[in-house]
Amino acid sequence: MERILNYSYRGLLKSCNYSCSYCPFSKRSSDASVLQADREALMRFCCYISKLEASPHSLQILLLPYGEGMLHPHYTEALSYLSSLPSVRRVSCQTNLSWNIDQVANAVLQSGGRLSHISFWCSFHPQCTSPTDFLYQCNRLDHYGIRYCVGMVARPGSESLAREIRNALSGHTYFWLNRMDGLQRPYTPAEIACFSELDPFFPLELNSHLSDLSTCQGGKTALFVQADGRTALCPIAGKFSGNIYHRSISTSSLSCKAKHCHCYLAYSNRTEIGLKTFFGQGAFLRIPERIGIKNLFLDIDGTLTGPNGNLLPGIEKTLSLLAGSVNLYFATALPYSYVQRKYRKLFPLFTGGIFAGGAHIRFFRSFPEHYFYLSPTSVREIRLLLSEYSCSPSTIRRYNTPEGTYRITIKSKYADTLFHRLSSIKDILIFQEKGLVTIISKATDKGKALAYLLRLTKSSRDSAAAIGNDISDIPMFKEVKYPLSVPHSAEPVQHSALCSMPVTLLPVFFGM
Ligand code: SF4
Repeated sequence: MERILNYSYRGLLKSCNYSCSYCPFSKRSSDASVLQADREALMRFCCYISKLEASPHSLQILLLPYGEGMLHPHYTEALSYLSSLPSVRRVSCQTNLSWNIDQVANAVLQSGGRLSHISFWCSFHPQCTSPTDFLYQCNRLDHYGIRYCVGMVARPGSESLAREIRNALSGHTYFWLNRMDGLQRPYTPAEIACFSELDPFFPLELNSHLSDLSTCQGGKTALFVQADGRTALCPIAGKFSGNIYHRSISTSSLSCKAKHCHCYLAYSNRTEIGLKTFFGQGAFLRIPERIGIKNLFLDIDGTLTGPNGNLLPGIEKTLSLLAGSVNLYFATALPYSYVQRKYRKLFPLFTGGIFAGGAHIRFFRSFPEHYFYLSPTSVREIRLLLSEYSCSPSTIRRYNTPEGTYRITIKSKYADTLFHRLSSIKDILIFQEKGLVTIISKATDKGKALAYLLRLTKSSRDSAAAIGNDISDIPMFKEVKYPLSVPHSAEPVQHSALCSMPVTLLPVFFGM
């Protein structure tokens, strides 16, 4: 059986219909003899792939023409043929998306190809097309159910354009941003923050990734092939040896001349970068294989909402997309009664929630409620201490059930001192924010409540993701396989998370 699962291929084409100022292939045309030679080389490569002894559904192939291949019928032929092979999981092509999608889709279907096994790596070139025209093309791909990713160069000054494209794409589509080569200065923190909010993996573009064959999949599961069959570890490894057509691939003799894995085609080969966690096998094609989690826990304040407490733009639409395949749970410091009043319209999308910082678990359709109560001793000690501060009764609120008290809040101008004094009481957890002191039992927090809920629903940690922005979210990060922070979270929160992304990007990576 073949070891190489991911093949990237570059033919002889060096021409494009676009005239972007930064591209060496702009407005160059290929004469008929080059096109014929490119066609023959591509068909030979397809033939080679068809003869590989590979497991069903195991191979991924990425066509990387210099210029625009999809303008030429033999690229459609190749996609169609490769997608029809049982061994091929997916075949993709880099493209500017300027061609007739209906024509290509129909040609694939008529020749027995499988659109579900084809994807495209699409670049938006603002010098040569408009957002409207480009997005129309994306809609046509959606119409045929063809997977694709979309991206552009992160040129400073293009932030709002990038945002426009991102926001107009379907919620499931990954939008990438490539570092701008030749930028004579580093990106500013504001530019990095903005681009990273649109593409959570943009920071990888800014790392230097010193080349290191010990963690590189080049020659192990991935191989770059040229038109004449010569092979290299990756498209930028710079050293060719071996040839797939001479049966002389000795991948052990392949080496790498590059100092850095400086582009996605290279660093996606590096195992320690962890792209596979979010993209699965699709990391090679830049197409996330959505992670089929069962349960998603969402903090509210600062995660689903902005500073005014209102839901952020796009949140409802995003949650609707996710709710189709994932159980959604609130995970908030707010009490249930407040959440119900303020965010009632979200309730049909949610299965339940962790409220009051973990002191109250409530399911909306099944299971009884669960409370973590303050011990009677703690309640007595708190009452005693508050009497010293002569807090007005109207500033103290107790959250009770017939079984006991599970939450106490105090609004006080002495919140700092109060917080300090309350710290001497055993068995309580205290939070303080904007003059409001909140007390719950130490037996719980968002993490303990989440773990309890998972046990109750017989769900595993591996099936769960959580997203938040606050220190109080860190305990729940420890209980799930996919802990996520939203952009602008406190630093310790970002460090405790696997990745930082806005809630609106969750459907790109999670759900069916
Ligand atoms: S440049 Fe390519 S071959 Fe070299 S280490 Fe990086 S990914 Fe591997």
